[in-house]
Amino acid sequence: MKFDLEALRTEPGRSVSLTRDVDLPDLEWQGEILRVLGPVHVVASAVYQEGEFILNVAVRGRVRRKCSRCLVELVEDVHEEGTPEVHPAEVAGPTLELRPFIEAGLRLGLSPKPLCTPGCLGICPECGADLNWERHREGCHGQTKRLDPRLSVLRKLLDEPPSER
Ligand SMILES: [Zn+2]
Ligand SMILES: [Zn+2]
Repeated sequence: MKFDLEALRTEPGRSVSLTRDVDLPDLEWQGEILRVLGPVHVVASAVYQEGEFILNVAVRGRVRRKCSRCLVELVEDVHEEGTPEVHPAEVAGPTLELRPFIEAGLRLGLSPKPLCTPGCLGICPECGADLNWERHREGCHGQTKRLDPRLSVLRKLLDEPPSER
């Protein structure tokens, strides 16, 4: 998917738009490998104005990710539209390849903390129990968080080793 820069240059001020469904390979994002499910719907426009190319790219796609709290797989709908900066080197040739802008748009649209459900309880960092499905394992101090505050005082006393022996 690319824009014909020569054609745009010959008609300053005229906006050209392209619409395509683009298949993307897996994307790497902050150490996470993201599978892009099906084609990404892309609407892009470009115009040459006052010696510069102005680009607008909108992407809509589905990405397989993991819940940031419990690590279960989920599918995130991504919809992102923006006006990315175009560096002179990118428009030095006769055409402008849109793939990098499409991938960048998809990454920008990702939630930093995807959740399987808004109320996901996550995995206890202490005992490793998936709190959506199970209780804290025995001896886990994560339990105290969910106790009645009046009881947690009692619990603290019980957990403390005897002071004098
Ligand atoms: Zn979750
Ligand atoms: Zn726990």
